[in-house]
Amino acid sequence: MARKRILITGAAGFLGSHLCDRFIADDYHVIGMDNLITGSLENIEHLFKLENFEFYHHDVSKFIHVAGELDYILHFASPASPIDYLKIPIQTLKVGSLGIHNCLGLARVKKARVLIASTSEVYGDPEVHPQTEEYWGNVNPIGPRGVYDEAKRFQEAITMAYHTFHGIETRIVRIFNTYGPRMRLNDGRVLPAFIGQALRGEDLTVFGDGSQTRSFCYVDDLVEGIVRLLHSDYAQPVNIGNPDEITIGEFAEEIIQLTGTTQKVIYKELPVNDPKQRQPEISKAKELLNWSPKIDRSEGLKRTYEYFKNLPEEKLYKKEH
Ligand code: NAD
Ligand code: UDP
Repeated sequence: MARKRILITGAAGFLGSHLCDRFIADDYHVIGMDNLITGSLENIEHLFKLENFEFYHHDVSKFIHVAGELDYILHFASPASPIDYLKIPIQTLKVGSLGIHNCLGLARVKKARVLIASTSEVYGDPEVHPQTEEYWGNVNPIGPRGVYDEAKRFQEAITMAYHTFHGIETRIVRIFNTYGPRMRLNDGRVLPAFIGQALRGEDLTVFGDGSQTRSFCYVDDLVEGIVRLLHSDYAQPVNIGNPDEITIGEFAEEIIQLTGTTQKVIYKELPVNDPKQRQPEISKAKELLNWSPKIDRSEGLKRTYEYFKNLPEEKLYKKEH
């Protein structure tokens, strides 16, 4: 039987590269697409020798042409860390609007099923806790995070519109903070920030008083949830995340334990509109997809630390911001 063909945008990024690995392992023909604005070819270079992997260096906010048939399109291209999307706000808005429009147009032509990477950020600074898929969110459209949050909300809206008006098969995953190997050490997200600081012998920078919470999901669990959602028949949004909630202050202590650093925690100003609490409500994923996270934080952190520890020294000291 011919291999199923899947297009993955954002393929050279953290999540996109893990998705490429998973679909290659499942014997798909994988077409990765990326403009490398926040990603790196190093994340996928091990795939280049494979006959069932192709790479297009392309900005998905511009018209997309792909030769041959497509069964699935996963739209994961987008800057994802607050520092990245504040640095490139217009590109962030474009990839969440023009980029998904191009993917949906391509899906119509190819009769492909589309799955989009949405985010817990559609809930903004949530007034409902934990966050269920029914909650509409509390987003400041013109605040600094608005460029990302509103792009993702628009992305959900246009995806539902194509589903309703054009009958495209669509899936929406709302991803909560996910971590693992291949995150960029300097992308500003809390886990690589803390581990990088520990490895360089710097103090760990907690923003605000550290009482804000997040719930961290290991990348392999997320990928399994995405695969199950893709193959389900459910077109409404589904939260995928690990409900094990922790304050950022406690998280810094865990990283200190993990790395054995003798550095201390220092406190910096809390970024504007930083969500105070975040925890996924995952009953839908459990019931519809028979999915729940399997890798707890202590195991996931060990695996991730192993990756960062073995990076070449120049990566540790590379300044991006
Ligand atoms: P990442 O920055 O590692 O990967 C994003 C990739 O998209 C990069 O390789 C980048 O070069 C590429 N890209 C950006 N704009 C592009 C464009 N216009 N054309 C082509 N490629 C483009 O980030 P990530 O953590 O892997 O996030 C991937 C997706 O998952 C994003 O859509 C993000 O919003 C979503 N998401 C991630 C998380 C998380 O915790 N990692 C949480 C919620 C949602
Ligand atoms: N954070 C922190 N120190 C850092 C980087 C981030 O205390 O060096 C905090 C940040 O303010 C937020 C939490 O950690 O409350 C998670 O931040 P991240 O950027 O990883 O993700 P997001 O805010 O998008 O969930």
